[in-house]
Amino acid sequence: MKPINQVIKTMKPSGIRKYFDLANSMEGVISLGIGEPDFNTPWHISNAAIESMQSGYTHYTANRGLIELREAICEYYHNRFSVDYDPKKEALVTVGGSEAVDLCFRTLINPGDEVIVLDPNYVAYEPAIIMAGGVPVYIELTQDNDFKLTPEDLKAALTEKTKCIMLNFPSNPTGGTMGREDYEKLVPIFEESGIYIVSDEIYAELTFEGEFCSPASFDSIKDQVLVINGFSKAFAMTGWRLGYLLCNAEINSQLTKVHQFIIMSAPTAAQYAAIEALGSGLEDTEEMKKEYERRRNLLCARLNRMGLRTNVPRGTFYAFPDITSTGLTSDQFCVRLLEEQKVAAVPGTAFGEHGEGFVRISYATSYENLKEACDRIEAFVASLKQPEEVLIEEEIVIE
Ligand code: PMP
Repeated sequence: MKPINQVIKTMKPSGIRKYFDLANSMEGVISLGIGEPDFNTPWHISNAAIESMQSGYTHYTANRGLIELREAICEYYHNRFSVDYDPKKEALVTVGGSEAVDLCFRTLINPGDEVIVLDPNYVAYEPAIIMAGGVPVYIELTQDNDFKLTPEDLKAALTEKTKCIMLNFPSNPTGGTMGREDYEKLVPIFEESGIYIVSDEIYAELTFEGEFCSPASFDSIKDQVLVINGFSKAFAMTGWRLGYLLCNAEINSQLTKVHQFIIMSAPTAAQYAAIEALGSGLEDTEEMKKEYERRRNLLCARLNRMGLRTNVPRGTFYAFPDITSTGLTSDQFCVRLLEEQKVAAVPGTAFGEHGEGFVRISYATSYENLKEACDRIEAFVASLKQPEEVLIEEEIVIE
Protein backbone atom coordinates (compact mmCIF):
# COMPACT_ATOMS: atom_id res chain seq x y z
CA MET A 1 0.00 0.00 0.00
CA LYS A 2 1.14 3.58 -0.62
CA PRO A 3 2.23 5.65 2.38
CA ILE A 4 -0.43 7.81 4.00
CA ASN A 5 0.01 11.52 4.74
CA GLN A 6 3.36 11.99 6.47
CA VAL A 7 2.21 14.83 8.72
CA ILE A 8 -0.58 12.71 10.17
CA LYS A 9 1.58 9.64 10.46
CA THR A 10 4.21 11.39 12.57
CA MET A 11 1.67 13.11 14.82
CA LYS A 12 1.56 11.74 18.36
CA PRO A 13 -1.83 10.73 19.84
CA SER A 14 -3.11 12.81 22.77
CA GLY A 15 -1.22 12.20 26.02
CA ILE A 16 -4.48 12.52 27.94
CA ARG A 17 -6.21 9.59 26.30
CA LYS A 18 -3.38 7.22 27.25
CA TYR A 19 -4.06 7.75 30.98
CA PHE A 20 -7.80 7.75 30.51
CA ASP A 21 -7.63 4.34 28.81
CA LEU A 22 -5.18 2.98 31.39
CA ALA A 23 -7.39 4.16 34.27
CA ASN A 24 -10.48 2.64 32.67
CA SER A 25 -8.82 -0.73 32.44
CA MET A 26 -8.25 -0.89 36.25
CA GLU A 27 -10.70 -1.41 39.13
CA GLY A 28 -11.30 1.22 41.81
CA VAL A 29 -9.52 4.09 40.11
CA ILE A 30 -10.43 7.68 40.93
CA SER A 31 -10.00 9.58 37.71
CA LEU A 32 -8.77 13.14 37.99
CA GLY A 33 -7.62 12.90 34.44
CA ILE A 34 -10.42 14.04 32.23
CA GLY A 35 -11.40 17.48 31.09
CA GLU A 36 -15.16 17.45 31.23
CA PRO A 37 -17.77 18.43 33.81
CA ASP A 38 -19.02 15.61 36.02
CA PHE A 39 -22.47 17.25 36.02
CA ASN A 40 -25.11 16.16 33.53
CA THR A 41 -26.62 18.76 31.21
CA PRO A 42 -29.42 20.55 33.13
CA TRP A 43 -32.70 18.89 32.22
CA HIS A 44 -34.48 21.96 30.82
CA ILE A 45 -31.65 22.28 28.28
CA SER A 46 -31.91 18.64 27.17
CA ASN A 47 -35.66 18.99 27.04
CA ALA A 48 -35.45 21.92 24.63
CA ALA A 49 -33.66 19.61 22.19
CA ILE A 50 -36.28 16.89 22.65
CA GLU A 51 -39.07 19.40 21.99
CA SER A 52 -37.30 20.65 18.86
CA MET A 53 -37.20 17.11 17.50
CA GLN A 54 -40.85 16.55 18.40
CA SER A 55 -41.63 19.67 16.41
CA GLY A 56 -39.88 18.20 13.39
CA TYR A 57 -36.79 20.43 13.48
CA THR A 58 -34.61 17.61 12.28
CA HIS A 59 -33.12 19.21 9.17
CA TYR A 60 -29.98 21.17 8.34
CA THR A 61 -29.90 24.74 9.56
CA ALA A 62 -28.25 27.73 7.88
CA ASN A 63 -24.50 27.07 7.49
CA ARG A 64 -23.68 29.65 10.12
CA GLY A 65 -26.27 28.15 12.50
CA LEU A 66 -29.81 29.15 13.51
CA ILE A 67 -30.17 32.91 13.48
CA GLU A 68 -31.97 32.73 16.86
CA LEU A 69 -28.91 31.03 18.32
CA ARG A 70 -26.48 33.50 16.77
CA GLU A 71 -28.58 36.32 18.19
CA ALA A 72 -28.53 34.68 21.61
CA ILE A 73 -24.74 34.24 21.43
CA CYS A 74 -24.16 37.88 20.46
CA GLU A 75 -26.51 39.11 23.16
CA TYR A 76 -24.67 36.93 25.67
CA TYR A 77 -21.26 38.35 24.67
CA HIS A 78 -22.69 41.85 24.91
CA ASN A 79 -24.25 41.31 28.34
CA ARG A 80 -21.52 39.24 29.95
CA PHE A 81 -18.30 40.57 28.43
CA SER A 82 -19.24 43.90 26.79
CA VAL A 83 -18.17 42.80 23.31
CA ASP A 84 -20.49 43.42 20.36
CA TYR A 85 -20.85 41.24 17.29
CA ASP A 86 -23.33 41.20 14.44
CA PRO A 87 -25.25 37.87 14.54
CA LYS A 88 -25.76 37.91 10.77
CA LYS A 89 -22.17 38.41 9.67
CA GLU A 90 -19.83 37.92 12.62
CA ALA A 91 -21.03 34.71 14.30
CA LEU A 92 -20.57 31.11 13.22
CA VAL A 93 -21.91 28.08 15.11
CA THR A 94 -19.45 25.15 15.05
CA VAL A 95 -19.18 21.52 16.11
CA GLY A 96 -17.66 22.26 19.51
CA GLY A 97 -14.84 24.63 20.24
CA SER A 98 -12.76 21.88 18.62
CA GLU A 99 -14.00 22.58 15.10
CA ALA A 100 -13.55 26.30 15.73
CA VAL A 101 -9.84 25.77 16.57
CA ASP A 102 -9.34 23.82 13.36
CA LEU A 103 -11.23 26.39 11.24
CA CYS A 104 -9.15 29.28 12.55
CA PHE A 105 -5.83 27.74 11.59
CA ARG A 106 -7.02 26.41 8.24
CA THR A 107 -8.33 29.83 7.36
CA LEU A 108 -5.51 32.04 8.67
CA ILE A 109 -2.36 30.06 7.93
CA ASN A 110 -0.28 29.74 4.80
CA PRO A 111 2.33 26.95 4.83
CA GLY A 112 5.35 28.08 6.84
CA ASP A 113 3.54 30.78 8.84
CA GLU A 114 4.48 30.87 12.50
CA VAL A 115 1.88 30.56 15.22
CA ILE A 116 2.79 31.51 18.78
CA VAL A 117 1.56 28.97 21.30
CA LEU A 118 1.86 29.20 25.05
CA ASP A 119 3.50 26.22 26.71
CA PRO A 120 1.93 24.44 28.58
CA ASN A 121 -1.24 24.62 26.48
CA TYR A 122 -4.35 22.68 25.48
CA VAL A 123 -3.44 19.53 23.54
CA ALA A 124 -5.39 20.23 20.32
CA TYR A 125 -3.68 23.45 19.26
CA GLU A 126 -0.34 22.11 18.09
CA PRO A 127 -1.80 19.33 15.88
CA ALA A 128 -4.30 21.76 14.34
CA ILE A 129 -1.49 24.21 13.52
CA ILE A 130 0.69 21.49 12.04
CA MET A 131 -2.16 20.01 10.00
CA ALA A 132 -2.74 23.48 8.55
CA GLY A 133 0.93 23.71 7.55
CA GLY A 134 1.88 26.19 10.27
CA VAL A 135 4.95 26.23 12.49
CA PRO A 136 4.30 26.44 16.24
CA VAL A 137 6.63 28.77 18.18
CA TYR A 138 6.47 28.36 21.94
CA ILE A 139 6.49 30.80 24.81
CA GLU A 140 7.12 29.20 28.19
CA LEU A 141 4.67 30.13 30.91
CA THR A 142 5.99 29.87 34.44
CA GLN A 143 4.43 29.11 37.78
CA ASP A 144 6.29 32.06 39.35
CA ASN A 145 4.47 34.33 36.94
CA ASP A 146 1.12 32.65 37.61
CA PHE A 147 1.17 31.19 34.08
CA LYS A 148 0.46 34.58 32.47
CA LEU A 149 1.78 35.89 29.16
CA THR A 150 4.20 38.82 29.58
CA PRO A 151 4.85 41.62 27.06
CA GLU A 152 8.59 40.82 27.10
CA ASP A 153 8.04 37.19 26.11
CA LEU A 154 5.51 38.14 23.47
CA LYS A 155 7.89 40.65 21.87
CA ALA A 156 10.74 38.16 21.87
CA ALA A 157 8.66 35.51 20.08
CA LEU A 158 7.45 37.75 17.23
CA THR A 159 9.13 37.45 13.84
CA GLU A 160 8.33 38.51 10.29
CA LYS A 161 6.68 35.14 9.82
CA THR A 162 4.31 35.32 12.81
CA LYS A 163 0.73 35.07 11.60
CA CYS A 164 -1.14 34.63 14.86
CA ILE A 165 -1.03 33.77 18.53
CA MET A 166 -3.18 31.18 20.27
CA LEU A 167 -4.45 32.26 23.68
CA ASN A 168 -6.52 30.32 26.19
CA PHE A 169 -7.43 32.02 29.46
CA PRO A 170 -8.64 30.71 31.85
CA SER A 171 -6.18 28.06 30.78
CA ASN A 172 -6.35 24.33 30.39
CA PRO A 173 -4.12 22.95 31.97
CA THR A 174 -2.75 25.64 34.31
CA GLY A 175 -5.95 27.37 35.49
CA GLY A 176 -4.14 30.68 34.87
CA THR A 177 -6.13 33.77 33.89
CA MET A 178 -5.37 37.15 32.32
CA GLY A 179 -7.16 40.21 33.67
CA ARG A 180 -7.76 43.52 31.92
CA GLU A 181 -4.59 45.01 33.36
CA ASP A 182 -2.54 42.07 32.02
CA TYR A 183 -3.97 42.48 28.50
CA GLU A 184 -3.45 46.26 28.57
CA LYS A 185 0.30 45.66 28.47
CA LEU A 186 -0.02 43.41 25.42
CA VAL A 187 -2.46 45.46 23.35
CA PRO A 188 0.13 47.93 21.93
CA ILE A 189 2.28 44.99 20.81
CA PHE A 190 -0.69 43.31 19.14
CA GLU A 191 -1.62 46.58 17.45
CA GLU A 192 1.86 47.16 16.08
CA SER A 193 2.45 43.60 14.90
CA GLY A 194 -0.96 43.22 13.23
CA ILE A 195 -1.02 39.50 14.05
CA TYR A 196 -4.28 37.63 14.60
CA ILE A 197 -5.21 36.66 18.12
CA VAL A 198 -7.17 33.45 18.42
CA SER A 199 -8.73 33.54 21.88
CA ASP A 200 -10.18 30.28 23.19
CA GLU A 201 -12.61 31.48 25.87
CA ILE A 202 -14.25 28.15 26.59
CA TYR A 203 -13.62 28.49 30.36
CA ALA A 204 -14.73 32.13 30.58
CA GLU A 205 -17.74 31.28 32.74
CA LEU A 206 -15.53 29.32 35.11
CA THR A 207 -13.59 32.36 36.31
CA PHE A 208 -13.54 32.36 40.11
CA GLU A 209 -11.67 35.54 40.95
CA GLY A 210 -11.77 38.81 39.07
CA GLU A 211 -13.70 39.51 35.89
CA PHE A 212 -13.16 37.47 32.76
CA CYS A 213 -11.58 39.68 30.08
CA SER A 214 -11.65 38.97 26.34
CA PRO A 215 -8.94 40.54 24.17
CA ALA A 216 -11.81 41.36 21.79
CA SER A 217 -13.02 43.93 24.34
CA PHE A 218 -10.14 46.23 23.29
CA ASP A 219 -11.49 48.24 20.36
CA SER A 220 -8.09 48.90 18.80
CA ILE A 221 -7.41 45.16 18.23
CA LYS A 222 -10.96 43.78 18.02
CA ASP A 223 -10.71 43.17 14.26
CA GLN A 224 -7.61 41.02 14.79
CA VAL A 225 -9.29 38.78 17.37
CA LEU A 226 -11.09 35.51 16.64
CA VAL A 227 -13.09 34.44 19.68
CA ILE A 228 -13.73 30.73 20.26
CA ASN A 229 -16.27 29.61 22.80
CA GLY A 230 -18.73 26.77 23.32
CA PHE A 231 -21.26 25.06 25.53
CA SER A 232 -19.24 22.07 26.77
CA LYS A 233 -17.77 23.52 29.95
CA ALA A 234 -20.12 26.31 30.98
CA PHE A 235 -23.31 24.27 30.59
CA ALA A 236 -21.97 20.70 30.99
CA MET A 237 -22.74 19.92 27.34
CA THR A 238 -19.64 18.10 26.08
CA GLY A 239 -21.67 15.43 24.29
CA TRP A 240 -23.75 17.95 22.35
CA ARG A 241 -20.73 19.08 20.34
CA LEU A 242 -21.55 22.73 20.03
CA GLY A 243 -19.33 25.78 19.94
CA TYR A 244 -18.96 29.07 18.09
CA LEU A 245 -16.64 31.60 16.54
CA LEU A 246 -16.99 35.37 16.71
CA CYS A 247 -14.87 37.69 14.59
CA ASN A 248 -15.01 40.43 11.98
CA ALA A 249 -17.30 39.86 9.00
CA GLU A 250 -14.57 39.43 6.39
CA ILE A 251 -12.78 36.62 8.23
CA ASN A 252 -16.05 35.13 9.38
CA SER A 253 -17.24 34.65 5.83
CA GLN A 254 -13.95 32.89 5.00
CA LEU A 255 -14.29 30.62 8.05
CA THR A 256 -17.86 29.89 6.99
CA LYS A 257 -16.70 28.65 3.60
CA VAL A 258 -14.53 25.99 5.24
CA HIS A 259 -17.28 25.07 7.71
CA GLN A 260 -19.80 24.86 4.85
CA PHE A 261 -17.77 22.25 2.99
CA ILE A 262 -16.65 20.09 5.90
CA ILE A 263 -19.68 20.28 8.23
CA MET A 264 -22.66 21.98 6.50
CA SER A 265 -24.26 22.97 9.79
CA ALA A 266 -23.82 22.06 13.46
CA PRO A 267 -26.31 19.52 14.91
CA THR A 268 -29.79 21.05 14.87
CA ALA A 269 -31.16 19.62 18.14
CA ALA A 270 -27.99 20.77 19.91
CA GLN A 271 -28.56 24.28 18.57
CA TYR A 272 -32.04 24.37 20.12
CA ALA A 273 -30.58 23.14 23.41
CA ALA A 274 -27.98 25.91 23.21
CA ILE A 275 -30.65 28.60 22.76
CA GLU A 276 -32.24 27.36 25.98
CA ALA A 277 -28.84 27.27 27.71
CA LEU A 278 -28.09 30.90 26.93
CA GLY A 279 -31.65 31.98 27.68
CA SER A 280 -32.20 30.21 31.01
CA GLY A 281 -29.10 28.19 31.87
CA LEU A 282 -26.77 30.73 33.43
CA GLU A 283 -28.14 30.06 36.91
CA ASP A 284 -27.16 26.41 36.50
CA THR A 285 -23.69 27.55 35.45
CA GLU A 286 -23.43 29.67 38.59
CA GLU A 287 -24.37 26.68 40.76
CA MET A 288 -21.80 24.43 39.08
CA LYS A 289 -19.16 27.12 39.39
CA LYS A 290 -19.75 27.41 43.15
CA GLU A 291 -19.22 23.69 43.51
CA TYR A 292 -16.03 23.74 41.41
CA GLU A 293 -14.73 26.55 43.60
CA ARG A 294 -15.43 24.59 46.80
CA ARG A 295 -13.53 21.62 45.36
CA ARG A 296 -10.69 23.82 44.16
CA ASN A 297 -10.23 25.23 47.64
CA LEU A 298 -10.04 21.75 49.16
CA LEU A 299 -7.68 20.40 46.52
CA CYS A 300 -5.22 23.29 46.47
CA ALA A 301 -5.01 23.50 50.25
CA ARG A 302 -4.33 19.77 50.48
CA LEU A 303 -1.74 19.72 47.66
CA ASN A 304 0.18 22.64 49.14
CA ARG A 305 0.12 21.01 52.58
CA MET A 306 1.65 17.86 51.07
CA GLY A 307 4.51 19.94 49.73
CA LEU A 308 3.31 19.99 46.11
CA ARG A 309 3.48 23.68 45.30
CA THR A 310 0.20 24.66 43.66
CA ASN A 311 -0.92 28.08 42.47
CA VAL A 312 -4.58 28.54 43.29
CA PRO A 313 -6.18 28.46 39.82
CA ARG A 314 -8.39 31.49 39.20
CA GLY A 315 -10.43 29.65 36.60
CA THR A 316 -11.26 26.25 34.96
CA PHE A 317 -11.54 23.00 36.86
CA TYR A 318 -7.86 22.07 36.82
CA ALA A 319 -5.04 22.42 39.31
CA PHE A 320 -1.44 22.24 38.12
CA PRO A 321 0.83 21.30 41.03
CA ASP A 322 4.63 21.34 40.82
CA ILE A 323 5.74 17.81 41.67
CA THR A 324 9.51 18.31 41.39
CA SER A 325 9.92 18.00 45.18
CA THR A 326 9.13 14.28 44.80
CA GLY A 327 12.20 13.74 42.61
CA LEU A 328 10.02 12.07 39.96
CA THR A 329 9.34 13.18 36.40
CA SER A 330 5.73 14.02 35.54
CA ASP A 331 5.32 10.75 33.72
CA GLN A 332 6.84 8.67 36.54
CA PHE A 333 4.64 10.47 39.05
CA CYS A 334 1.45 9.72 37.12
CA VAL A 335 2.28 6.09 36.33
CA ARG A 336 3.24 5.34 39.94
CA LEU A 337 0.29 7.25 41.40
CA LEU A 338 -2.02 5.19 39.22
CA GLU A 339 -0.32 1.87 39.96
CA GLU A 340 0.27 2.40 43.67
CA GLN A 341 -2.77 4.45 44.73
CA LYS A 342 -5.21 4.14 41.82
CA VAL A 343 -5.52 7.84 41.13
CA ALA A 344 -5.36 9.00 37.52
CA ALA A 345 -3.85 12.40 36.73
CA VAL A 346 -2.22 13.67 33.55
CA PRO A 347 1.50 14.47 33.28
CA GLY A 348 2.21 18.11 32.49
CA THR A 349 4.26 17.00 29.50
CA ALA A 350 1.02 16.07 27.70
CA PHE A 351 0.55 19.85 27.40
CA GLY A 352 4.01 20.73 26.15
CA GLU A 353 7.68 20.45 26.99
CA HIS A 354 7.44 23.07 29.73
CA GLY A 355 4.79 21.03 31.49
CA GLU A 356 7.62 18.82 32.82
CA GLY A 357 7.65 18.93 36.61
CA PHE A 358 3.87 19.40 36.81
CA VAL A 359 0.74 17.26 36.68
CA ARG A 360 -2.77 18.28 35.75
CA ILE A 361 -5.42 17.35 38.27
CA SER A 362 -9.03 17.82 37.23
CA TYR A 363 -11.50 18.57 40.01
CA ALA A 364 -14.51 17.88 37.83
CA THR A 365 -15.38 15.02 40.16
CA SER A 366 -17.44 14.85 43.36
CA TYR A 367 -16.18 16.44 46.59
CA GLU A 368 -16.12 13.00 48.23
CA ASN A 369 -14.08 11.52 45.41
CA LEU A 370 -11.71 14.43 45.60
CA LYS A 371 -11.22 14.02 49.35
CA GLU A 372 -10.46 10.34 48.92
CA ALA A 373 -8.11 11.13 46.02
CA CYS A 374 -6.29 13.70 48.18
CA ASP A 375 -5.77 11.06 50.90
CA ARG A 376 -4.33 8.70 48.31
CA ILE A 377 -2.04 11.32 46.78
CA GLU A 378 -0.86 12.25 50.26
CA ALA A 379 -0.09 8.60 51.04
CA PHE A 380 1.78 8.32 47.76
CA VAL A 381 3.87 11.45 48.36
CA ALA A 382 4.60 10.32 51.94
CA SER A 383 5.75 6.92 50.69
CA LEU A 384 8.27 8.66 48.45
CA LYS A 385 9.67 10.71 51.31
CA GLN A 386 10.19 7.88 53.79
CA PRO A 387 13.65 6.66 52.75
CA GLU A 388 15.04 10.18 52.91
CA GLU A 389 13.61 10.80 56.38
CA VAL A 390 14.94 7.52 57.70
CA LEU A 391 18.35 8.43 56.36
CA ILE A 392 18.32 11.76 58.17
CA GLU A 393 17.31 10.09 61.44
CA GLU A 394 20.12 7.59 61.05
CA GLU A 395 22.60 10.37 60.40
CA ILE A 396 21.50 12.07 63.61
CA VAL A 397 21.94 8.80 65.54
CA ILE A 398 25.44 8.35 64.15
CA GLU A 399 26.48 11.85 65.19
N1 PMP B 1 -10.50 24.38 24.25
C1 PMP B 1 -10.10 23.97 25.45
C2 PMP B 1 -9.11 24.79 26.18
C3 PMP B 1 -10.60 22.79 26.00
O1 PMP B 1 -10.19 22.40 27.21
C4 PMP B 1 -11.52 22.03 25.25
C5 PMP B 1 -12.08 20.72 25.77
N2 PMP B 1 -11.30 20.01 26.64
C6 PMP B 1 -11.89 22.50 24.00
C7 PMP B 1 -11.38 23.68 23.52
C8 PMP B 1 -12.86 21.75 23.11
O2 PMP B 1 -14.12 21.75 23.62
P1 PMP B 1 -15.40 21.32 22.78
O3 PMP B 1 -14.97 20.88 21.45
O4 PMP B 1 -16.06 20.26 23.58
O5 PMP B 1 -16.22 22.59 22.72
